[in-house]
Amino acid sequence: MTAILQNGSTLRVRFAPSPTGYLHVGGGRTALFNWLFARNQGGTFILRVEDTDVERNKPELVDGILDAMRWLGLDWDEGPVFQSQRLELYRAAAEKLLASGAAYHCYCAPEKYAGADAAPADEPAAAAESSKPAARQRCGCRHLTGAARAEAAERARAQGILPAVRFRVPESGVTQFADAVFGAREVQNAEIEDFVVLRSPRPDASGQPPESGPSLPLPTYQLGAVVDDIDMRITHVIRGADHLSNTPKQVLLYHALGAKPPIFAHVPLILGADRTRLSKRHGATSVGSYADEGFLPEAFRNFLALLGWSPGDDTEFMRSAELLRRFSLAGVSRTNAVFDRSKLEWFNTEYLQKLPIEELLPHIEGELKRAGLWQPQWGLSTAALGDAKGSSQREWLARTVDLIRPRTRLLGDFTTWALAFFTDDFSYDPAAVAKFWKDPKLADLLAKLADALAALPDWNHDACDKALRDLAAAEGVKAGLLINATRVAITGQAVAPPLFDTMVAVGQPRVVSRLRRAVPAIPKL
Ligand SMILES: [Zn+2]
Repeated sequence: MTAILQNGSTLRVRFAPSPTGYLHVGGGRTALFNWLFARNQGGTFILRVEDTDVERNKPELVDGILDAMRWLGLDWDEGPVFQSQRLELYRAAAEKLLASGAAYHCYCAPEKYAGADAAPADEPAAAAESSKPAARQRCGCRHLTGAARAEAAERARAQGILPAVRFRVPESGVTQFADAVFGAREVQNAEIEDFVVLRSPRPDASGQPPESGPSLPLPTYQLGAVVDDIDMRITHVIRGADHLSNTPKQVLLYHALGAKPPIFAHVPLILGADRTRLSKRHGATSVGSYADEGFLPEAFRNFLALLGWSPGDDTEFMRSAELLRRFSLAGVSRTNAVFDRSKLEWFNTEYLQKLPIEELLPHIEGELKRAGLWQPQWGLSTAALGDAKGSSQREWLARTVDLIRPRTRLLGDFTTWALAFFTDDFSYDPAAVAKFWKDPKLADLLAKLADALAALPDWNHDACDKALRDLAAAEGVKAGLLINATRVAITGQAVAPPLFDTMVAVGQPRVVSRLRRAVPAIPKL
């Protein structure tokens, strides 16, 4: 299935992270929107790594970004393409701009344009749009011609300054573009600076411009993004609203390079609960940290999708197939989204309860493996072989997870408070001990219960229930006293799934041995 646009081209979108940090929640959301749009429209999703800012990039972070995308389930069709391997392309574009007069060499010291050409951070602290109405000061190099230019070049060279390439923004008129979210936009050209497109190359030891290698002149964010978007035939640029202010410059570049601008769709910013830009002050901001915390990727994806997009009604719980079906740029809001952690936890709880158990089990397997608790007989492979014992072990795991999950919020719950379902190596929660093991009669009662349970010919809910209540009646104690004490003995916890279901899941031999193990731990009179 391939979407053909009105102009006959195939729909192509890209996600273009810079390896200056981890995959931020905002970046993950932008990637998700691109992916949903591409998959919804039968288009192509391209991954491009914008790694030409040598001072800020950390190549070792690329893998982490790709891992976080994989965790989110965002598969890409092309790439990753690295801008650092395409420097010739940007140089050629700059040459083209110089040849047509759309750009000029600037011989000013690099400090003069510092800050004007840097790629914006994924989620910079700056406001989404700067609306400075004042006309921009143009660089003096703009008007140099002939002998004056040769003289400026010579003077700069003598000082070890190599020229940068600046775009010659028209002095009058307006630059317009259509944004699928924010509507028609228009900026006075007089307000747009003569932005740098190619940075000044760093001179080599002899003071000469480098011919090759990492010190080739590097493109600015504006040039790199536009040249690549043209080269990759990108049809829709979906990105954070912090890029709205770059867009007029990029539209000028498209026109100067003889290309038609794509459709832009700027998605709203993500704020913390206090309505300021989401940052570390609000807690974890990297997608990977939520993976580590035990959120389910599909729950996180559902949550992210609703940060700035709505299906048009109140539906919130939407599995991936539904998100894919319902996503559209028309549903993207102009209003900033608020990252609400309690909402994210609600989604995770919903997914832990509602996923078909077979879909949840691989995540539980990952969590048990991470905690060193996994046993191979619980795996699918044994069951798949038709081994009766293996498949019953798998069924045991499925039933046990199903029993535990109503009380879980994060995957880690399966290996913390529910630890005793998967290993004998657990300890008693001191608060549970203090509350439910304080009656000295319990040592004797638990020993008798162990004997009664050990004698049961059939191990099921009702048999366990009857054995415990019969003992309580015979000893003249309330069943609750015994139930609470037994729960602590076999799970270590004060709160756990219903006791007799828990006893069935833990199994007769382990329940009996855990009760006997508890006896010496009960405080004496
Ligand atoms: Zn200049």
